[in-house]
Amino acid sequence: MPPALIWFRRDLRLSDHPALVAAVEAAGGDGTVVPVFVVDPRLWGPSGAPRRQFLRGCLADLREQTGGAVVIRSGDPARVVPDLVRETGAGSVHVSFDAGVYGRERDAAVERALGDVPFVRTGSPYGVTPGRLLKDDGTPFKVYSPFARAWRARGVHSPAPRPDDVAWAEGVPTEDLPPAQDLRGTVMPAAGEAAGRDVWAQFREQRLLGYATARNTPGADATSRLSAHLKYGTLHPRTLHAEAQELAGDHAEAVEKFVGELIWRDFYADVLWHRPETAREPFNPQMRAMRYDTGPDADERFAAWAEGRTGYPIVDAGMRQLHGEAYVHNRVRMIVASFLVKDLHLDWRRGARFFFDHLVDGDLASNQHGWQWVAGTGTDPSPYYRVFNPTRQGQQFDPDGAYVRRWVPELRDVPDRYVHEPWTAPGGLPEGYPAPIVDHAEERRVALDRYQAVRDA
Ligand code: FAD
Repeated sequence: MPPALIWFRRDLRLSDHPALVAAVEAAGGDGTVVPVFVVDPRLWGPSGAPRRQFLRGCLADLREQTGGAVVIRSGDPARVVPDLVRETGAGSVHVSFDAGVYGRERDAAVERALGDVPFVRTGSPYGVTPGRLLKDDGTPFKVYSPFARAWRARGVHSPAPRPDDVAWAEGVPTEDLPPAQDLRGTVMPAAGEAAGRDVWAQFREQRLLGYATARNTPGADATSRLSAHLKYGTLHPRTLHAEAQELAGDHAEAVEKFVGELIWRDFYADVLWHRPETAREPFNPQMRAMRYDTGPDADERFAAWAEGRTGYPIVDAGMRQLHGEAYVHNRVRMIVASFLVKDLHLDWRRGARFFFDHLVDGDLASNQHGWQWVAGTGTDPSPYYRVFNPTRQGQQFDPDGAYVRRWVPELRDVPDRYVHEPWTAPGGLPEGYPAPIVDHAEERRVALDRYQAVRDA
């Protein structure tokens, strides 16, 4: 049998990998499997250092797991993949289906360039492949809850078996790993399949039980921290779903909540599949008329937000967590996003771009639609008139200030009752911490007026 080529993309693992199983089957008993990763400048370039570094770590792990067989090549996949097929004599190319805006165009171009060599898509990075679920009237879902009901009713496949003793092709010339990144002190999560399994095992054993109640408390470290692993596919959500279900008897509520979050991920990928333009444009076309600030003042406000010096402790803590860990807790992502759009009146796309550059889990569907949800331009939008009050959000979700103190050292000695509004502390603001750059009550009114103008237009 000719070798079969497995082209890894957002599926950097060997377990529960249907496309790899398909490649092993295509190679037959005596054929080899050529494992390939293409460093595509169109994805590598705009990725930001944390994602590049994490990807590099995943590739190092995959290389080790395959006994050094992974072939790394840089360039346009529509040229690199057919070249490799010619070099190795591969009889088929196997991939996981990519539903992304760029990914689907790229795959169509590779498929065309391969001519008669089959390009076989098996599985996808989601519990339910984007585009599969439709409403009874045949149209796409626009609201999370009915999508989630349909998702649960459809069910998820069982994990695919990990192939034993794959005969990896040896000696195919490869480039080195892509270059290590300058992370400027950002502490990164461990990359690779075994690291993902460790994170999952710890969460499942120690924190899943309390997830439903503690997931909104950023100081509690109560969430899974699996987003980067899901993004790069070192773990598949199907595996998590199956292994979480084993605990469902005693911990039904926690498991249901956790699976509900995995469904959000599938939901946003599904929305982007049907409406690829929503990576850049408001999902709700009426919101195209929304007015945002630009110019030097707006740039200054953006810089204060980006650097975590707005004078609102929970916002500053969130932005400093972004720089410190290339990650932000979900509740705090919502708070900082709301602050940018509704207190500073800046375009959500500006914030989304900044997140995308700095997050290790930066994912087009979850990021753009997470932003759109907060900005009131997207699916299921948090109604525009619901403007998060950053002080009250801090008091409610970080009542003892544990999260704020961890990330804003200037506030470490401020008593609990003032930690979310240090400007009211009897001794005044602690040294080095700024006064609020805007007045929330005033900016809330401005935001609501602008929203009303869109509605009236
Ligand atoms: P857990 O609470 O343990 O959840 C488990 C998994 O479910 C996550 O790893 C993630 O894959 C998925 N998930 C959870 N919440 C959401 C959600 N609201 N939307 C989509 N998937 C979800 N998530 C990303 O993976 N990449 C992004 O670029 C991203 N950008 C965001 C931007 C904004 C403005 C907002 C409000 C949310 C964003 N999210 C993003 C969603 C969410 O904040 C992260 O997935 C979550 O914080 C990751 O932490 P965790 O793995 O501990 O989550």
